[in-house]
Amino acid sequence: MRRERKAKIVATLGPASFDRAVIQALFEEGADVFRFNFSHGSHADHKARHEIVRAIEKDLGRPIAILADLQGPKLRIGQFAGGKVTLQAGAEFTLDRNTEPGNEQRVCLPHPELFEAVRAGQSLLIDDGRVRLRVLDSGDDFIRTQVVNTGVLSDRKGVNVPDAVLPIPALTEKDRRDLSFALELGVDWIALSFVQRPEDVQEAKDLVRGRAGVLSKLEKPQALERLEDIIELSDAVMVARGDLGVELPPERVPGVQKRIVRLCRKHGKPVVVATQMLESMVTAPVPTRAEASDVANAIYEGADAVMLSAESASGLYPVQAVAMMNRIISEVERDPLYPAMVDAQRDATAPLNVNKGDAISSALRDVTRIMGVTATVAYTTSGHSALRTSRERPLVPIVSITPNQETARRLALAWGVHSTVSTNVYTVDEMVAAACRTALAEGFVKPGDQIAIAAGTPFGQPGTTNLLRLAEIWPQ
Ligand code: PGA
Ligand code: MN
Repeated sequence: MRRERKAKIVATLGPASFDRAVIQALFEEGADVFRFNFSHGSHADHKARHEIVRAIEKDLGRPIAILADLQGPKLRIGQFAGGKVTLQAGAEFTLDRNTEPGNEQRVCLPHPELFEAVRAGQSLLIDDGRVRLRVLDSGDDFIRTQVVNTGVLSDRKGVNVPDAVLPIPALTEKDRRDLSFALELGVDWIALSFVQRPEDVQEAKDLVRGRAGVLSKLEKPQALERLEDIIELSDAVMVARGDLGVELPPERVPGVQKRIVRLCRKHGKPVVVATQMLESMVTAPVPTRAEASDVANAIYEGADAVMLSAESASGLYPVQAVAMMNRIISEVERDPLYPAMVDAQRDATAPLNVNKGDAISSALRDVTRIMGVTATVAYTTSGHSALRTSRERPLVPIVSITPNQETARRLALAWGVHSTVSTNVYTVDEMVAAACRTALAEGFVKPGDQIAIAAGTPFGQPGTTNLLRLAEIWPQ
């Protein structure tokens, strides 16, 4: 089975996509990566879905990536006596540490760190920014605010503090429990929510210890100040536009998205554009024209993947949403304007740490054009050679061959990579034979075609990309 498109689809699983029939339909219609959202669902739910995805993978013979998305330090207010209150613009409202139910004057904020971190004049955004509070003053156990806009507050709504770097750990106790559970299950990617600093990514990487790729969700303005350092440390990145668009004015999100996508390309890190991409398909079988355009634009920008959240997790049309995304991506990739547009996103300046892999993949790009090869093949242990090849965005297929099933699964997220698992090879001749055999068997070439192969020797050692080889396909 092979996909006729380069960019990938991440589909979030949830109550609307619980059983095998739906999950398999999502995969068949185009989902390459399944996201398990640890903000919802029990460990038993995630375990059941994990088993289903792995069974589909086994039956259909294609590596599938599973992304475990940790909730992160999502801040919430406490509860109200009547479940909700209406706050009037101009009124005063206090957040405090009193755990009694709230009213029109006050509510509990069960996050002690916040009381010290906020300053007069800063904003607190509640319920995805629906209610804005301006801080008047604060002390050890209170934050006195003025209500900026009239609105309703109800129990346990989320709180965003866009102006302050919060002294809160990147991983909560719940995240740590979820992380070890997810690693035990054997997920391929761990997504970190509300990353603020490179140190947050490092902390997670120290815990993950290479057992999964670490994907940083960019949804805090503070992360943008140290963007390049965060991207360099991460294995992949998500433009998490939901929270980002609360913490930043929404008009700034499109430019930030473009900046992040470009920088990820420069560093060869897969980047996912996420949230509200086909939002109206939560309740309707067709998207708005603006949504179709949003998905298409992310593809023209060169994103590795686009993501569905509620559309596939809790909406009425999960399978249709994936099918629609698949059609939009395929249409863009057939557009004669597309190659030049994706090429224009390439940063010709060398990445910070120029290495042999960059030199080889850049040469691969030229060789592919000059020789008119039919496919590129990356023989890869850690996935590095395949990601470097993907970064060049060749128009011909990228077939990735690895002896590691974990690597094969992780690469399902990367632009253009058709990921396969093979046995170990020990010599260059064996490697070339495996490359030709796989490209032919997977239907990407026919006898007489040329392929260009990137690999690293000694085989089996990660990150050694140092070999570029042209080969002709012989009848097998
Ligand atoms: P979430 O992350 O759905 O976990 O909040 C994505 C986003 O904020 O866009
Ligand atoms: Mn978020």
